[in-house]
Amino acid sequence: MERQKRFLLNEDELPRQWYNIQAEMVNKPLPPIHPATKQPLNADDLAHIFAAECAKQELDQEHAWIDIPAEVLERYKSYRSTPLVRAYALEEALGTPAHIYFKNESVNPLGSHKINSALPQCYYCKQEGTTNVTTETGAGQWGAALSYAAKTFGLECAVYQVKISMQQKPYRSSIMRTFGATVEGSPSMSTRAGKDIITKDPLHPGSLGTAISEAIELATTTPNCKYTLGSVLNHVSLHQTIIGLEAEKQMAKAGEYPDIVIACFGGGSNFGGLAFPFMRHQLSAVSHQPSAPKIDFIAAEPSSCPKLTKGKFEYDFGDSAGYTPLLPMFTLGHDFKPANIHAGGLRYHGAGTIVSQLVKDGLMRGVDIPQLESFKAGMLFAQTEGIIPAPESCHAIAATIREAQKCKETGEEKVILFNLSGHGLIDMTAYDSFLNGDLQDFEYKG
Ligand SMILES: *Cc1c(COP(=O)(O)O)cnc(C)c1O
Repeated sequence: MERQKRFLLNEDELPRQWYNIQAEMVNKPLPPIHPATKQPLNADDLAHIFAAECAKQELDQEHAWIDIPAEVLERYKSYRSTPLVRAYALEEALGTPAHIYFKNESVNPLGSHKINSALPQCYYCKQEGTTNVTTETGAGQWGAALSYAAKTFGLECAVYQVKISMQQKPYRSSIMRTFGATVEGSPSMSTRAGKDIITKDPLHPGSLGTAISEAIELATTTPNCKYTLGSVLNHVSLHQTIIGLEAEKQMAKAGEYPDIVIACFGGGSNFGGLAFPFMRHQLSAVSHQPSAPKIDFIAAEPSSCPKLTKGKFEYDFGDSAGYTPLLPMFTLGHDFKPANIHAGGLRYHGAGTIVSQLVKDGLMRGVDIPQLESFKAGMLFAQTEGIIPAPESCHAIAATIREAQKCKETGEEKVILFNLSGHGLIDMTAYDSFLNGDLQDFEYKG
């Protein structure tokens, strides 16, 4: 029998709504609270820094389905659906009876899933009369996506990029600047927060935490400027559910349903994007299908930054300086300084509040992947499937390989679905370091 490798959706099959898992969770995530008053924040509080519509979505625990604006849908159509691919060659190389599928979010001009949220965030800012957006970026995928989306909707864009990532991946700042954004390495001397960090630690390599502090400071001191975030927050995962909603339809075309769903984990947006639409069948009365097979949901984080498995569940700041609201999440502490691993998008101290609650409730789990194992997995994937994965995505591939190897031992023909969150073509210095034997593992030391 001829075997089909790629599954796509027609334009009329594209999802028209995002899925808001908060509305169907039995135990809702705890609210963000104001650091000084300790009072729960409302959408108006959040709208000081974020687009009002994003602030509303952030706290929406009522509506399970949220319409994708027509202008955003129009832009989604230029690169969606993304392919669902059966990784036959990887399966053969592993000698596993498992069926391995991946959702390929690397095939848009920006190269990662981040554009799925950059477009709606810039659209809402434009609608609300904002002229400038700012953000932080790690490896630069979010900054690149936002720079492009801002240009698309006629907004000015300023990006703070984590200094170490800027040095590791110089082309990403070139990409952002090509789209018309201004880019600063963080910590920088251009903000109070940046100056304070540099004064304490002149060689600070930067982290997502430092860059967030700087971007929020810029947003709150610049007229008509909003802050945007590419991960962690609920509205970001909401926008990313386009991934899982498509994947669900594509898996049906393949005639399969996943036993295991895997994504790498930085703040949770690509994980939530793929997982939440599948998880809805095991959640509440509304979407609950008792007949739906139980899925093992796995978030793959780096061993050097293991908030889900070794962090504490508590209220913590989202940034280093303590400008953000306090969020109830699994965290390694907002002053945690992650090792300089190449998966820049996973070097974040906290986990999104939805995922944190789901982990507490036993609906999903985290696994820790050492850096070298992640690159070995990425190499095998590249050599079998012909796609060079982003260092972040390599963590999902490594977790997939672990599960596929278990299937080999037990002879189980499980269906594994993972998210290929991005390609690694701008990350070749990382592959060079790996190939030259210059990379090492960093264990988390409490
Ligand atoms: C940003 C990024 C991640 C991590 O962020 P999440 O919000 O956890 O998805 C993973 N992979 C790629 C390619 C990224 O750009």
